[in-house]
Amino acid sequence: MTDFAATKAMFDLPKGVLYLDGNSLGPLPRAAQARVQEMMADEWGQMLITGWNKAGWMALPTGLGDRIGRLIGAEPGHVVMGDTLSIKVYQALASALELNPDRKVVLSDNGNFPTDLYMADGLLRSLGGDYELRVVDPEAVEDAITDEIAVLMLTEVDYRTGRLHDMKRLTEKAHAQGVLTNWDLAHSAGAFPVDLAGCKADFAVGCTYKYLNGGPGAPAFIYVAPRHADTARPALSGWLGHEAPFAFDLDYRPGEGIERMRVGTPPVIQLTALTSAMDVWDMADIADVRAKSVELTELFIAGVEATCPELQLASPRDPALRGSQVSFRFQEGYAVMQALIARGVIGDFRAPDIMRFGFTPLYIDESDVQGAVDILADIMTNRLWDKPEYKIRQKVT
Ligand SMILES: *Cc1c(COP(=O)(O)O)cnc(C)c1O
Repeated sequence: MTDFAATKAMFDLPKGVLYLDGNSLGPLPRAAQARVQEMMADEWGQMLITGWNKAGWMALPTGLGDRIGRLIGAEPGHVVMGDTLSIKVYQALASALELNPDRKVVLSDNGNFPTDLYMADGLLRSLGGDYELRVVDPEAVEDAITDEIAVLMLTEVDYRTGRLHDMKRLTEKAHAQGVLTNWDLAHSAGAFPVDLAGCKADFAVGCTYKYLNGGPGAPAFIYVAPRHADTARPALSGWLGHEAPFAFDLDYRPGEGIERMRVGTPPVIQLTALTSAMDVWDMADIADVRAKSVELTELFIAGVEATCPELQLASPRDPALRGSQVSFRFQEGYAVMQALIARGVIGDFRAPDIMRFGFTPLYIDESDVQGAVDILADIMTNRLWDKPEYKIRQKVT
């Protein structure tokens, strides 16, 4: 059984803050600060370039890939870190399309995060010809999986509402129609157990600064199923994905398996911070995290609905159908969120009217949830959000 009091003690959370935005940016693991400082002083500072060998910097992307792989049900040796999620979406989609060369349609949904759709659109335009990005309603995805589709590209959890796609069922249907799948786990990894191998997913990608707590700008990860690992051609054929980077051949030859999905020099400082975040995950059982997350989200929904009748639940009511966030709609949601933040309850806002709250059992408990409900109820009941300063939109919402 996971000791959540112990995991909570491993994060540096500012006093007086109830942090319900770990679905956007996880907090600082206490150990990360000292660890990054040591890495800079002892490794970068003293070892200089020999750190690549002596300190094992070059092995960080696959080593950390395996530690994340444990949370997402990936086979060992099939996840690697690098770049940002937008790049990984492009990379996975490009490889998947090449593995299904007779088809030209990429299927996605309008609950996907815009960058995923932008990257797909950019890739298809570069490929030219008659490639098409087909975007349907989330509920229409299953019926739209036909033998015309090359790749089904979905984000498992809707970033606005938390609605969860059924990965196993949709992947099965896709395969029955000869369609390859690319799953974005941005709001899944670290939120609940994912079973990539069991679902027979073909490709998957995700970021590490949300539920995984790797820090702002932490690198993304990519998974390629073992059956494709040595046949998927890397479209972003960088030197560190080469079979022998230090042979400096003029011709590209892809590395073995997941190594070929590396592109360029890994971000060692960020990977060091991520290492501390993954040390916390070593103390947690992801099944316990899910069970606790369901308790916390149920408690929040019940509390808000009992005290704030103007707010409308935007997330699925059945916890089995949502990720680890809860969203409420309210026309003045932006102002309400600013009022909450002013009182130390940090969530975020997604246009046009969605207030999002993320629930992260590693450092959020029942008393935090109750505290957030009480403050929200006060703000709604007494219209404390109705002030001009809460209506000025900032750049990052
Ligand atoms: C957060 C998120 C991203 C962000 O991509 P970056 O390249 O890391 O900025 C992309 N896709 C989804 C689905 C996300 O939730």
